[in-house]
Amino acid sequence: MKYVDEFRDPLLLTKTAQEIARLAEDKHYRIMEVCGGHTHAIYRFGLEQMLPPGIELIHGPGCPVCVLPMGRVDDGLTIAQDPKVILTCYGDMMRVPGEHGSPLEMKARGADIRMVYSPLDALKLAKQNPDREVVFFAIGFETTAPATALTIMQARGLDIKNFSVFCNHIRIVPALRAILDQPDMTLDAFIGPGHVATVSGAKIYVEVAEDYKKPFVVSGFEPLDIMQSIVMLLKQLESGQSIVENQYSRVVPWEGNAAALRTIDEVFELRSLFEWRGLGNIPDSAYKLNERYADYDAETRYNLPGLHVVEHEDAQCGEVLKGSLKPHQCKLFGKECTPERPIGALMVSSEGSCAAYFNYVHSKQAAVSGA
Ligand code: SF4
Repeated sequence: MKYVDEFRDPLLLTKTAQEIARLAEDKHYRIMEVCGGHTHAIYRFGLEQMLPPGIELIHGPGCPVCVLPMGRVDDGLTIAQDPKVILTCYGDMMRVPGEHGSPLEMKARGADIRMVYSPLDALKLAKQNPDREVVFFAIGFETTAPATALTIMQARGLDIKNFSVFCNHIRIVPALRAILDQPDMTLDAFIGPGHVATVSGAKIYVEVAEDYKKPFVVSGFEPLDIMQSIVMLLKQLESGQSIVENQYSRVVPWEGNAAALRTIDEVFELRSLFEWRGLGNIPDSAYKLNERYADYDAETRYNLPGLHVVEHEDAQCGEVLKGSLKPHQCKLFGKECTPERPIGALMVSSEGSCAAYFNYVHSKQAAVSGA
């Protein structure tokens, strides 16, 4: 297939749904789609409605903005209080709530916080403003870490000293292990994140699949990609296999992107522990700048307070991120917590499961019922 509408062909989708129904007959499987991009596609294209009752999709922690604890957001915003600083971040971060407001609200109160499309935009700002300090709020899985690393290497190469990075890059495999280690874990199989695998390769899931005896299929993001991935998982479950398959081979190389992986190795090292919202402290789950590039590390440059913020007592973001609750089962969903007045990042991130459910399911149901 070549064109996007072929991946959305209603006839092929119906046929694939029929095959899923045949394979899942009389069974009940809980399948986690790890990536927030998959969650949005599932809701946007109404794929859940096409599945038989025996297939339950569980939304995973693959939204980097959602899993960032509020204390890290506030640490970043502490930097922005320095009048010399221009804090830059991706658009996804702008509405993420910290304890005393989001970056957008802090900007409205006078902090110089600017949205950028890439870390290179932040570096450009540093070049244009030699009398200011430009800090990039870096966030994302292995997918976006190479761009941050490359920008830091460029800053070094161009001898730009008024640029630094507040590094919040995280790794997906340790988070998957943390989920699989939970005592109440009842997942049968995983739709593996496609974006991360473009950098790290599909092979990074092999050990997890073997250790926990769970099938993995790395999937694309179009409706037929996801439905076909479910068929592949069901076939593995039926035959008792637990291997990694690559449904997204048109984009994902099995071995990953060697050049991108080299930039990560050049600039970063693993943190021994990093806190994830809902999952707690996970060993080796995040990157920080290594010794060689320590002078570009905003955490050492700004002596951050290392804030730990207690979340709203009724917010159930952690349970939703672990897959123990569906977004609409959170006590605050659609009441205190909405996209206009978010309590948790899951309600505002473009990959957040609460935002997906609110925009594609809740709003339509509310329109039909006249609420
Ligand atoms: S509805 Fe709001 S508070 Fe509840 S889980 Fe979603 S983002 Fe968190």
